[in-house]
Amino acid sequence: METKLVVVDNETPDAGIIAEAGRILRAGGLVAFPTETVYGLGGDALNPDSSKKIYAAKGRPSDNPLIVHIAEMEALRAICAEIPEEMVQLAEAFWPGPLTMIVPKTDLVPKETTGGLDTVAIRMPDHPAALALIRAAGGYIAAPSANASGRPSPTLAGHVMEDLQGRIEMILDGGEVGIGVESTIVDLTGDVPTILRPGYVTEEMLKRVLGEVQTDPTLMQKVEGGRPKAPGMRYRHYAPKGTMSIVEGETTEVIARINALTDEAAAQGKKTGVLCTEESIAQYRADVVRSLGSRSEMQSIALHLYRALREFDDEGVETIYAESFSRDGFGQAVMNRMLKAAGYTVIQA
Ligand code: AMP
Ligand code: MG
Repeated sequence: METKLVVVDNETPDAGIIAEAGRILRAGGLVAFPTETVYGLGGDALNPDSSKKIYAAKGRPSDNPLIVHIAEMEALRAICAEIPEEMVQLAEAFWPGPLTMIVPKTDLVPKETTGGLDTVAIRMPDHPAALALIRAAGGYIAAPSANASGRPSPTLAGHVMEDLQGRIEMILDGGEVGIGVESTIVDLTGDVPTILRPGYVTEEMLKRVLGEVQTDPTLMQKVEGGRPKAPGMRYRHYAPKGTMSIVEGETTEVIARINALTDEAAAQGKKTGVLCTEESIAQYRADVVRSLGSRSEMQSIALHLYRALREFDDEGVETIYAESFSRDGFGQAVMNRMLKAAGYTVIQA
């Protein structure tokens, strides 16, 4: 299949382009599209065959459920068996925006979309072109991140092309996304609202609305056995092809240790990479050194993380050492993705 790449204006998308993409989705095809978090790989959420195609195109295990994207609050009634009060409060505070909520589903949502679960994850993206596409598609788009399973999520349309060209009908190119890491996921099916994946909307922000909120304790450490609540957390994710380690500690010691480690790896004939910041980039001597931006701007660090991981792949980097970041606020989401990319390998400087 030939994949059509079309540039779209994020704020005022061309009606003809949206109509064409909407027709593809209604007919059961797949369209990748920009959102404020990362690019999504969209299919009609209410069509089981579309969801099967999404899993096939990504090479994603079919028990890893998809997030259903909606464009209006009224869309909830048809797909939620229950609309808890917390959902209404959080939607008022954060929708449209980078927050996904899990609630019991109705029969309208096929099990193919929810990976066999009786619950459904729902989000309303803060992105006019994405919202227009959802409406054109009939109101419900199932969309995981538009990367091949196991690769870092796409923050540019070019990343989607790399991974999915020839496997999907269309890609809408809205340029670089705004946030760069996936939405916060909060499970509303238990006694206490529980964060299953950290994102731009932090625990503190959720607590300001709900009072009580907890974070799944397995988020920042390796899960040995057991069954994590968000099935996606079982799989290796966000991974570069090289072996990555995070080096933690006081800045000057981190820099010295990373240089020693890359020298060691280079002596063994490995191509080396360093993931760092504007403040430290001049001090490294690895083969490929990438800054994520200023350490004082967590938003920049988040936005550039996946792109940098893909660049290490493009350059054939085999051993990567990364500086570490604060786990406070939005930093928790960034460190969660970095820890996963590193297979939870952390070295104390
Ligand atoms: P992605 O679409 O790549 O951002 O991944 C979606 C994430 O949402 C995966 O990690 C899933 O495990 C999680 N998810 C989606 N639906 C549910 C659900 N019903 N219950 C728990 N986790 C879910
Ligand atoms: Mg993903």
